[in-house]
Amino acid sequence: VLRVRNVSGGFRRNTVLRDISFDVLPGECVALVGESGSGKSTLSRILIGLHREYRGEISWCDEPLASKASRRSRAQRRELQYIFQSPFTALNPRKTVRGSIEFAYDLTVGGNAKARKRAVDEVLSKVQLPASLAEEMPHTLSGGERQRVAIARALVTEPRLLICDEVTSALDVLVQASLINLLDELRKSEGLSMVFVTHDLALVRSFADRVIVLNGGTIVEEGPTEAVLGAPQHPYTVSLMENTL
Ligand code: ATP
Ligand code: MG
Repeated sequence: VLRVRNVSGGFRRNTVLRDISFDVLPGECVALVGESGSGKSTLSRILIGLHREYRGEISWCDEPLASKASRRSRAQRRELQYIFQSPFTALNPRKTVRGSIEFAYDLTVGGNAKARKRAVDEVLSKVQLPASLAEEMPHTLSGGERQRVAIARALVTEPRLLICDEVTSALDVLVQASLINLLDELRKSEGLSMVFVTHDLALVRSFADRVIVLNGGTIVEEGPTEAVLGAPQHPYTVSLMENTL
C-alpha cells in the first residue's frame, strides 16, 4: 500500500500541491487527472523521490519513504518505478537498449551475468520488443519503441507500483493503444499497482479502478471510476467531462 498523507509542496514561493492525501491499494490502478499545471507531474516526482520540496508523509508498505530517491532502501527503489512522457523518459543516449535495462537491474536487483542476461531478454519479450533492438542506441528508435524500453527498464526491477505520467500522450493512437494493452496485461499478470496520470478520460474509463481529480493543487474529487465519471460532483470534474466528450 502506498500511503500519502497531507502532502503540500511546490517550488519556492509557488505552492503547487496543498494537503494531498490518498492511498493506492495492491493491484489498484488510480488515475490522476486535472488541468495542465495542476501539479500532477510534481506529485509524481515527489512519489518517486525526484522532487524534495514538500511537507507531509509518504509511506510504502508501512515504511516511510525518504524524500530523496538515493536515501530510499534498495527494496523501495526496486518496488516503486516510473515511466514518464516520452521526451522526459530520458534513456541514456550513450547506452544501448540492453545497457540501459542492465543498469536498472544492477542498481536494484543485482545478479550474475547470466541471471542478468536472462532478466533482460525476458523483459524485452514481455514488452514485445524484438531482441534485435537490444543492441541499438535510443536515438535510432521510434517514440513508441522508446516507451517500451522505458517500460522494460522499469519492469526488470520487478516493481510493485508503477507511476505513469502521461506515458502515451506524445504517441499516435495505435501506438497508444498497444502500450495501454501492454500495461493492462502487466497489471493483470503481475498484479502491479499503478498511479496513472492522464488527460484522456476515455482511457481513465477503460483502465482505472479509481479516479483522483486535482484542481488548483488540491484533490477536489475522488472515488471509483464509474462513480466519478458517471455522476461527477465537483464543478471542475463536470467541466472536465463536458470539455472532453
Ligand atoms: P501538465 O498536465 O501540463 O503536465 P501538471 O499537472 O503535470 O501539468 P506540473 O508540471 O506538476 O503540472 O506543474 C505544476 C506547477 O508547478 C505549474 O504551475 C508550474 O508552473 C510549476 N512548475 C513546474 N515545474 C517547475 C519548475 N521546475 N520550477 C518552477 N515551477 C515549476
Ligand atoms: Mg505533467
